[in-house]
Amino acid sequence: QAEKLGVNQMASYSPGMQVRIVERFALVSEMKEALARGEFRLDYQAQVGLADQRLIGVEALLRWDSPKLGAVEPDRFIPAAEDIGLIRELGTWVAQRACSQIVEWDRVGFHVPRIAINLSLQELARGTFPEDFQHVIGETGIDPSRIELEVTESVLLGPLAETIDALMALRNMGVGLAIDDFGTGHSSLVYLKRLPVKRLKIDRNFVRDLGRDLNDEAITRAVIGLGRSLGLAVLAEGVETREQAVFLSREGCQEAQGFFFGRPMGAAELAARWSQARRNHLKKI
Ligand code: C2E
Ligand code: MG
Ligand code: MG
Ligand code: MG
Repeated sequence: QAEKLGVNQMASYSPGMQVRIVERFALVSEMKEALARGEFRLDYQAQVGLADQRLIGVEALLRWDSPKLGAVEPDRFIPAAEDIGLIRELGTWVAQRACSQIVEWDRVGFHVPRIAINLSLQELARGTFPEDFQHVIGETGIDPSRIELEVTESVLLGPLAETIDALMALRNMGVGLAIDDFGTGHSSLVYLKRLPVKRLKIDRNFVRDLGRDLNDEAITRAVIGLGRSLGLAVLAEGVETREQAVFLSREGCQEAQGFFFGRPMGAAELAARWSQARRNHLKKI
């Protein structure tokens, strides 16, 4: 962005802006090589049924351990990857790795019913996305009905007709769709009728103060009710305490994810933990 600004505007740079631009530059130049150098990996976080705390799926979460910059948060490097057009390559790598992982787990007798994969607006907006994804499905041999793509309401800010076409094509392939961070976007709810949505994920900002904030409780109840009325599954994100889990369960929310049930972790650790949970007693809420 700096190169777009003229000399006059340069004078009005604040030191803060300069730091951010320098930081972004470092990020971008490191990231270009990071994929080839194998610096990215996936962690997986359990999604559980609240009635019995059984594993109903896992969400793949991208991690970058840069030897130069340290661990970089996805909220920082994903927007940068979008800016420099690296998200396509990165997203394909994520899909490939996540789908392969499910098949590898199957092979060792650890059955994870569903894999959730985050998708950014830019990935979906590119016309060849469904084809590319079909390719990943074919290569990995995963049953597409075990895949769920998570998108935020911001996908509706993109070219809507193309986005809907892409999501319909994916639905026809058998791939599921969840709305991530539900309730934090600025769109109307009309899209819920038009898109092949299966699941709403209540944003963790609403979950955090359950038991303390009446407004958040009201919003959470409303989302659970909306899901029930529309025949959609509702999963609460960011559940950190037993109290939150109990509240959600009592209000009729059937699924949850969060530190209370398990942090995102490597594939081997997740398998070890959840095979054990199956043998021993499941965590009771
Ligand atoms: P998200 O999809 O909403 O993922 C949930 C985020 O909440 C994750 O942060 C997760 O580590 C965190 N989280 C889970 N449980 C708890 C909890 O109990 N308490 C708290 N405080 N946090 C919890 P993370 O891994 O830093 O990811 C941030 C965002 O980056 C994700 O939000 C998603 O939008 C994006 N992202 C992550 N991986 C990918 C990817 O492979 N592709 C794309 N396009 N985006 C990704
Ligand atoms: Mg997500
Ligand atoms: Mg979320
Ligand atoms: Mg998010």
